[in-house]
Amino acid sequence: MAFEGLAERLQGTLNKIRGKGKVSEADVKVMMREVRLALLEADVNFKVVKDFIARVKERAVGQEVLESLTPGQQVVKVVNEELTALMGGEQSKIATAQKPPTVVMMVGLQGAGKTTTTGKLANHLRKKHNRNPLMVAADIYRPAAIKQLETLGKQLNMPVFSMGDQVSPVEIARNAIAKAKEDHHDYVLIDTAGRLHIDEELMSELDDVKELAKPDEILLVIDAMTGQDAVNVAESFNERLGITGAVLTKLDGDTRGGAALSVRAVTGTPIKFAGMGEKTDALEPFHPERMASRILGMGDVLTLIEKAQTNVDEERAKELERKMRTNELTFDDFLEQLAQVRSMGPLDELLNMMPGAGKMKGLKNVQVDEKQIGQIEAIVRSMTKAEKEDPSILNASRRRRIAKGSGTSIQDVNRLIKQFGEMKKMMKQMSGMQKGKKKGGMGG
Ligand code: GDP
Repeated sequence: MAFEGLAERLQGTLNKIRGKGKVSEADVKVMMREVRLALLEADVNFKVVKDFIARVKERAVGQEVLESLTPGQQVVKVVNEELTALMGGEQSKIATAQKPPTVVMMVGLQGAGKTTTTGKLANHLRKKHNRNPLMVAADIYRPAAIKQLETLGKQLNMPVFSMGDQVSPVEIARNAIAKAKEDHHDYVLIDTAGRLHIDEELMSELDDVKELAKPDEILLVIDAMTGQDAVNVAESFNERLGITGAVLTKLDGDTRGGAALSVRAVTGTPIKFAGMGEKTDALEPFHPERMASRILGMGDVLTLIEKAQTNVDEERAKELERKMRTNELTFDDFLEQLAQVRSMGPLDELLNMMPGAGKMKGLKNVQVDEKQIGQIEAIVRSMTKAEKEDPSILNASRRRRIAKGSGTSIQDVNRLIKQFGEMKKMMKQMSGMQKGKKKGGMGG
């Protein structure tokens, strides 16, 4: 995951000071040297690091910290607050025009993830904000871009406006906005042309589109993996075009995090979203505070809860809860729950949002768990309907057949059946306890 190295180093440094009941200026100095190195290694812009360290130092040796009862913890708090401020402080939301449609221009270099992000953003606007966006294919230079957006549109079952690659982007934008008004779309997302490098031709073309489309938002899509380059790209686009926000893609990859920590400070432009994977739902609103907490190993419970809320169907959740209480849970229900957890994202990413999870050594083995889940799915899928509903009929020959069908061993099958039995027993006990509690006390 992103920030792994930085997170590890910062957490290591901060843990040394966290528990201290007394912190001297010398302690702070030593610590700041380590923090500085960690940030530089994460490819954070040199000047940004310098300012950051100066600010933290000033506060860390100030009265607010040294005179507090828990100075070690106060230093960590200061670092957390300053990291948050560095990334923009408050969350910066996507613009909404007074009079629809809101026009959003997506800009960026080729390969940054512009087209993918256009699809993700359309999906996000529909799912989270109940909007009805129109995607516009105006990247007429990258041969596959139009097709790619159309495919995304089909996949999401959302409309894409295109006029092929023989019409100028300005013409496409003009027609698209007219069409959006006609069809009552409240957002227009224009996927503009990218290039491999910034050049005058590209910029002047984007300028023309801007002139015509009068966008409410110009979102620059940048690849977090490219570190300082991403920051330079942002500076250039901002100077020439005036961007209103950035989307950092590929934060799920092995990025050092420098871009995320520098873009805002260098360009003054807020990061509005983070791309966390290739799938259409892998886009998260960027919350500086939560990101800082993740980096410092304090977890990001809020994002975790939000993910759970969007991925779980409330009716089904109630039904499952009832089945657990009445001990009617079948292997199919079990699979469904597994699938729900998985739909929230890769397990290691989810675990990284939990406070202190970074410190758990076992986390490195999470990959293995993913594999186990696949195995569980294969076993359950090899069962007949009757077996799934009543595991007690699973005799030796049935178990052998299931092992064979799922490409696992009899031991694997036995283990799963046993675990399932234990889980059911535990649920029964738990619901028994709850019932008892309801009867016994509370009243009314
Ligand atoms: P464009 O040239 O800027 O339109 O770039 P594309 O949208 O075609 O994306 C380039 C590549 O990056 C594709 O393979 C995408 O699947 C991939 N990509 C985009 N966003 C992300 C992300 O957030 N995470 C990961 N892992 N890959 C991404």
